[in-house]
Amino acid sequence: MSMSTVPTRITHLIGGHDWTGVPERTGEVYNPASGAVTGQVDLASAELVAEVAAKAATAARSWADASLARRTRVLFAFRELLNQRKEEIAALITAEHGKVLDDALGEVTRGLEVAEFACGIPHLLQGGHTEGASTNVDVYSIRQALGVVAVISPFNFPAMVPLWFVPIAIACGNAVILKPSEKDPSAAVAMARLWTEAGLPDGVMNVVHGDKEAVDALLTSPDVAAVSFVGSTPIARYVYETATAHGKRVQALGGAKNHMLVLPDADLDLVADAAVNAGFGSAGERCMAISALVAVEPVADQLIAKIKERMAGLRTGDGTKGCDMGPLVTAAHRDKVAGYVQAGVEAGATLVVDGRTGPFDGDEGGFWLGPTLFDHVTPEMSIYREEIFGPVLSVVRVPSYDAGLDLINANPYGNGTAIFTNDGGAARRFQHEVQVGMVGINVPIPVPVAYYSFGGWKHSLFGDTHAHGMDGVRFFTRGKVVTSRWLDPSHGGLNLGFPQNA
Ligand code: NAD
Repeated sequence: MSMSTVPTRITHLIGGHDWTGVPERTGEVYNPASGAVTGQVDLASAELVAEVAAKAATAARSWADASLARRTRVLFAFRELLNQRKEEIAALITAEHGKVLDDALGEVTRGLEVAEFACGIPHLLQGGHTEGASTNVDVYSIRQALGVVAVISPFNFPAMVPLWFVPIAIACGNAVILKPSEKDPSAAVAMARLWTEAGLPDGVMNVVHGDKEAVDALLTSPDVAAVSFVGSTPIARYVYETATAHGKRVQALGGAKNHMLVLPDADLDLVADAAVNAGFGSAGERCMAISALVAVEPVADQLIAKIKERMAGLRTGDGTKGCDMGPLVTAAHRDKVAGYVQAGVEAGATLVVDGRTGPFDGDEGGFWLGPTLFDHVTPEMSIYREEIFGPVLSVVRVPSYDAGLDLINANPYGNGTAIFTNDGGAARRFQHEVQVGMVGINVPIPVPVAYYSFGGWKHSLFGDTHAHGMDGVRFFTRGKVVTSRWLDPSHGGLNLGFPQNA
């Protein structure tokens, strides 16, 4: 393991400024391609979180009063700055997460699309107005900010996931406390600085680093009105239950096990390309990665041969060196994924390609595990049941469309899924019958565009609203309906009955 660099201190950004206090605890940040500790991140105490939340509550009150014209100008400026600095942010992601540079740039670009959507906030917040709902009575609706919202994000999309929420929350007039993953915290800080540069008043956007202690403090803080969480299912459930018990509005997006159903009429070359891209992109550390390939017989043998051929050409290595796939995020996670591979072998699945052995184009201390393919996987095996979150693709053979659909619908997760077929009728049936929140038809990673909303079903999401799009605007605002009558003497008189319209 190379330890030549001095770790950089990564601290909180509070009220537009770096925190200058002394942390009680810190966490290590690695370069996963070398195994070196490159950063030391401050982990916030509960007391510090309470202080930040109180300050953010003050900032939220005046930001909610900022005109839409002013808010929009800040949003456009942020969009421009993010676009100018996207390469810098992508480089920070590759350095701490390990994903290859192109992929890191891709996630910043998808996040940028949410900032572009939020630039339309005057239109998005338009309410309805009814003149003369009753005699001389007008009714209209308005949407108002919530106050302080907490955004708690996972390691796998250090820029895109915060961007799913932050621009819309700010556009709606809220203050934000972002608690990014402590594994790769630098992209969040870099983006938060851009808000200050864009003219956002100090205190509206804050970044607090930390682990369970900081998260618990946010979930229970009387100053936090809402929580947007993305992470694994057990933590998502815990966040939902704890924060709702403390009176907060919560959307908690959880883990996934995404299936790709391949019908016998599909073009198997296109399917093989899609399966490799969606199974191994970002080393499988995507909540929309395909981890189960459900092949309707008789196509499995032919499809596996094509996938294997493509896997032989993939280069796993340092994300800055033009490789196809980078390392896993930590040594512990790499070991966990390797443990699943071993469990698959022991359970009797056929290991077609073993990614544990390399070769790897990078420092030998890196957290390496190459693309891995299993055949003859069955629903009882842990490699099928559990979210592995690594470059492991499992082929499950089924006799029919119905058997494939039943398998997908029996799975406790419901984030994304895809069908590959040339039969429009079958695709249409699938989109209607499958119990999953995001569906691709010949599209392996159906991440919705920013003006639609992102979210799964079942154990992949706790709460009622999905991320971004109009669900985002609804989540970050409260609706109010005003019934108004401008009085004149003819409106006088006593009547204790329930108001009726006339
Ligand atoms: P994680 O659940 O370990 O961590 C997510 C966040 O929760 C982090 O900020 C972390 O600091 C915090 N956290 C961790 N343990 C906690 C605890 N005990 N109490 C309170 N807070 C805690 O997830 P991760 O490993 O960072 O990310 C990978 C997971 O996220 C995968 O399961 C993946 O499917 C999921 N994910 C889901 C989506 C989606 O849209 N549904 C998107 C991206 C990632």
